[in-house]
Amino acid sequence: MRLRLLGTGSADGWPNPWCGCASCGWAREHQVRTQTAVLVEDRLLIDCGPDVPRAATRFGVRLADVRHLLFSHAHGDHTSPEALLWRTWSTVATRPLDVVGPPASLDACRPFVAPPDGDTGALRFHPAHAGDVLSLDGFVIRALAANHGAAFVGPALLYDITAPDGGRLLYACDTAAPLPPATLDALAGRAFDVVLMEENNGDRPGFGDHLDLATFADVLAELRRRGAVAEATRVVAVHLGHRNPPGDELARRLALMGAHLHPDGTVIDTATGNLPGNAAAGGVPGTTASDGAPGPAAAAGPAGTDGGGRPGRTVFRGTHSPAGPPRPYRVLITGGARSGKSAEAERRLAAWPEVLYVATAGPVPPDDADWAARVAAHRTRRPAHWTTLETADLPPLLRADGPPLLIDCLTLWLTAHLGEEPPAGEWPAGLRELVAAWRDTRRHVIAVTNEAGSGIVPATALGRRFRDALGRINAAVAAESDEVWHVVAGIPTRLR
Ligand SMILES: [Zn+2]
Ligand SMILES: [Zn+2]
Ligand SMILES: [Zn+2]
Repeated sequence: MRLRLLGTGSADGWPNPWCGCASCGWAREHQVRTQTAVLVEDRLLIDCGPDVPRAATRFGVRLADVRHLLFSHAHGDHTSPEALLWRTWSTVATRPLDVVGPPASLDACRPFVAPPDGDTGALRFHPAHAGDVLSLDGFVIRALAANHGAAFVGPALLYDITAPDGGRLLYACDTAAPLPPATLDALAGRAFDVVLMEENNGDRPGFGDHLDLATFADVLAELRRRGAVAEATRVVAVHLGHRNPPGDELARRLALMGAHLHPDGTVIDTATGNLPGNAAAGGVPGTTASDGAPGPAAAAGPAGTDGGGRPGRTVFRGTHSPAGPPRPYRVLITGGARSGKSAEAERRLAAWPEVLYVATAGPVPPDDADWAARVAAHRTRRPAHWTTLETADLPPLLRADGPPLLIDCLTLWLTAHLGEEPPAGEWPAGLRELVAAWRDTRRHVIAVTNEAGSGIVPATALGRRFRDALGRINAAVAAESDEVWHVVAGIPTRLR
């Protein structure tokens, strides 16, 4: 199955042409994305907003061979009646074209290409509803309900497509989370080759019926649980706009989920295994990138040269295989209070189906409302499917086998162990045991800790002892970690 991403942008594109925000400024300089559409085997086009025909032209692609056009829904960035009008002015005006979409999409097109009383000429309109299965020229197309735009465009559809060579594609654009239950049921066990899924909102949720980075992770975790996304599935984020972070941060965040970011014009060919790398800013539009997807062993660095061929650009090499976080793999995340270190730790595991969250704080004291509120806020932020364990006894967990472990945090673990008075010059036994278990673990494990000691010297002896002990713990655990990150003002910086 050969796919050409004619566009990977949101309705307004990235950059939004009117906008002066930092994200648009970066995109203007590094990576322009126009409205999302994909061409399958050069003859099945999914979505066609007004940007799409000209994007095809820029990539050297002729739409003359397109035999089938699928509209996901009637929003203007997906359904452009003008594009069909332009076709009637071309040399292929009389060739048959199947136009498939929700009734609202077809209704929007009819006045441009046919008399109001019916279809004429070469266009064959096929109204599609959730649950419909359509066979066209060797393609099997299943329409599924999206969670999007109901009030304005009628039902929006996702498409589950089997190509003539057996390649399987899920086109999930546009939708919010969660996917409707009937859609999830229909997707169970599909083990798609490629999933194109929208991620419109980045770190700024709440715009339209769209996914943001957090809900993208939720949906992906659900698709993994259902077997719709399997080890070999290539998940690609599309419908990207300026609510996403600028720079390489988006590629980094997607790589943590086992998902990819590709420039407009990218070709994905599952039959030849010609799969592009995870280019953040690089990649040459209109060419087939082929640096080969890096495996976890070769993928440790946050930046490298762009496999797509453009020199000097950076590209994030994901640290995770599509199967899940690598094991064993130890990540330490440090930062000051409210720096965003816990959120960074959580988002690293958010797209994986099973996670054990270890709260080292222990039970909330009955008279501490502030503490209870903090714990509750943390809890609501975590995905509902995670298991939570409240304990400060970490070595047995590190030595056991099981799903990825998120330990939040070592600072509170220290509080529980501060009573251990070591002989002068020696480490507390609890710390020695923790570091040994951390070194020996077979699990993927992420621990959060506080960066202390940069401020004033604590006034009390206990405060000084705590600060010193925390510094020693951080250094000892960091020394035994595969990755170490420092979060400042919500921005993670890699130390190792
Ligand atoms: Zn859209
Ligand atoms: Zn902007
Ligand atoms: Zn839409």
